[in-house]
Amino acid sequence: MNIAVLSRGEHLYSTQSLIKAGEALNHNMEVIDPTFCNVMIENGYPILQYHDEIVDDIDAIIPRIGASNTYYGTSIVRHFEAMKVATIAGSRGILDSRDKWTSFQILAKSGIPVPKTTLGGHYYLDAFLKDFGEGAVIIKILEGTHGQGVILCESYKNALSTVETLQTARVKFVMQEYIAESKGADIRAIVIDGKVVASMRRQAAKGDFRSNLHRGGNAQNMTLSDAEKTVAIAAAKAMNLTVCGVDILQSKRGPLVLEINSTPGLEGIETTTGIDVSKKIIKYLESLRK
Ligand code: ADP
Repeated sequence: MNIAVLSRGEHLYSTQSLIKAGEALNHNMEVIDPTFCNVMIENGYPILQYHDEIVDDIDAIIPRIGASNTYYGTSIVRHFEAMKVATIAGSRGILDSRDKWTSFQILAKSGIPVPKTTLGGHYYLDAFLKDFGEGAVIIKILEGTHGQGVILCESYKNALSTVETLQTARVKFVMQEYIAESKGADIRAIVIDGKVVASMRRQAAKGDFRSNLHRGGNAQNMTLSDAEKTVAIAAAKAMNLTVCGVDILQSKRGPLVLEINSTPGLEGIETTTGIDVSKKIIKYLESLRK
């Protein structure tokens, strides 16, 4: 197959890992930087040019769309979809998973457990905050990533001034119950085609509550419980993402989904678990052709 990895970072670990896995399985692999794609519609047909060359020989794409490039990146994915090119992640699923509140609403539609969460930005500030009690709460800006844009407010006063600041700056956010018992740890599960293929437990660096590896967290291989697996698979299905990373918090009332990532980093999961996730992604693309 001719497989294109849509990525702005040809030399990134994840891009290189996918290229290596595809070539080892005898596919022609190439990297397409979405920012150098021109998309147009002519006579009712989608046309895509890359560096002025028409692209019409790609069988499948692996979108690795960065958070800073969501609009244009997903537009390119949608164009490939219109060209009937197979993809490991659809443009709709990528877009929906990028906005934290939209994701929670979609998960709620399928009854998937998430921490108690509310959309910020309305007038009844006091009632809104009081509903979360006097203890710690989490405030997240909607399109934050890598743990940037997630704030732990340890008191009512702290939460009030944070909310007032975000409202003044016109930043959209959600407020969420703080799951203290997770103790700075979360689970990252990679789901491919309805199965959990790799999973790890991430622990925040000392003094932080965010377990993101980008924020200095460390990771260990972990086998999920049946309940955790069921929730991860159901979340991927609800978000319409056949290949994704699902982040889960372990709470007193069982697993709670935090986030679904359409472009999960592969370095952390592959080096922690020793599992060749890239190869499994290519194998999944092969299965679509049968
Ligand atoms: P991002 O998309 O920026 O990674 P997340 O919502 O995944 O944002 O939050 C980053 C990290 O912060 C999580 O991996 C988790 O360790 C911690 N965290 C987020 N929300 C909560 C919460 N409600 N309770 C406890 N810890 C949380």
